[in-house]
Amino acid sequence: MPTYDKSRAKLAEAKQVLAGGVASTLRGSMKPTPLYVESASGVIVKDVDGNEYIDYQLAYGPLILGHAHAGFNERIANAMAKGITYGLQHDGEIELARRLTEVLPCADKVVLSGSGTEAVMLALRLSRAYTGKRKVVRFHGHYHGWSDSIFTSFPSPDMMQKATSAAADSVPPGTKGQSELSLQDVILLPWNEPEALEAALRANASDIAAVISEPVMCNSGCILPKPGYLEKIRELTRELGIVFIMDEVITGFRLGAGGAHGRFGITPDLVTVGKALGGGIAVSAVGGSKEIFELIDTEQVSHLGTLNGNGVATAAGLAVLELMTENDGAVYGTMEDNALKLVGGIRSLFAKHDIRGVVNQIGPVFHFMFIDEDEVNHFDTFQKRDSGKYAKFAQLMLEEGVLVRPNGLWYISAVHESSHIDATLQAIDRVFVRLA
Ligand code: PLP
Repeated sequence: MPTYDKSRAKLAEAKQVLAGGVASTLRGSMKPTPLYVESASGVIVKDVDGNEYIDYQLAYGPLILGHAHAGFNERIANAMAKGITYGLQHDGEIELARRLTEVLPCADKVVLSGSGTEAVMLALRLSRAYTGKRKVVRFHGHYHGWSDSIFTSFPSPDMMQKATSAAADSVPPGTKGQSELSLQDVILLPWNEPEALEAALRANASDIAAVISEPVMCNSGCILPKPGYLEKIRELTRELGIVFIMDEVITGFRLGAGGAHGRFGITPDLVTVGKALGGGIAVSAVGGSKEIFELIDTEQVSHLGTLNGNGVATAAGLAVLELMTENDGAVYGTMEDNALKLVGGIRSLFAKHDIRGVVNQIGPVFHFMFIDEDEVNHFDTFQKRDSGKYAKFAQLMLEEGVLVRPNGLWYISAVHESSHIDATLQAIDRVFVRLA
């Protein structure tokens, strides 16, 4: 049986000086204890107690090249040798911006920032400036970062009912300390319901600046858009003078170099990307149409950030794009094959152990749920999953040497191999016995 004594001791030590003990609130929920890492390489993480794990958490998504990738690290080291950040301009900014406009179909131009949260903040600001309107439509179960103007918690069914009528009191703040006024411009709607969307947009078109949506609801069940749904958002927003922001912080460079909008062939007005773009280094971007970015060209909209476009961040973005697109992006096929093998194996194990569960997958990302339903294609259904059972499963998987997020979202990287998938399926097989 693995022990976690050293991690436990380190958490206690951290709590004396680091508020909450962890650097991001979500990380504190890990059971039996938040882990402290000794080192990580490829897809293997070693904790301070000497336990080793195959990693499917991938630092919540950025590590599309795995840990300590030699080619990536070399490029970063070379960039650092020339100075980390200048507060002046350099070629790396132009090169990364150019490369992003080449791979992201909707991007005539881009801006660079440091996190997904900041990219979303800017996309919302641009939308308001561009349309001269204030309100923003967002959807149940989506996550767009933790800034005050967009962070909401999961609503209760009663609130969701009100949300379809676009009532302001139906938007629950994401945290204590967040002014409710900051959400007064948010209209929270159910996702994947074209009629509810159309009704709310038509009724409030003169006030709505933007619709922001994840293209696949990765943050709640990895739920795919219904056929025609994203197209409907696109049509309605275009007709009603509303900016369509596709939040690709998870899907960007993961569902293909062109992200979900490239894969689905839909052109939003603005796209936000982060996570995988930096391969673990802080960098994000907003891409979009020339017309909208004219607001920045003409300095009507401010876009600020001391470390924006720094040499390490731009080298990281360029390294990820170069390494992921070499050999015509063959690695995307490999990641998807590995995901399909793992997901197929999990479904077979559900049947073998007579366990009710659903796995929703697209490309190298999937959500694994214990649920008494045949499919999960709406947030309402997702809410019915047995999250307690999954948390227990995640803890047992740790004991079997597999690191997964306690919420059920799994990521496959470019460096997972078939042997890792086999070992993981064997671990799940054992854990399903222990769960019974
Ligand atoms: N948008 C989406 C879809 C996300 O999943 C996240 C983070 O998980 C964000 C935005 C915020 O990104 P960051 O954590 O880099 O601020």
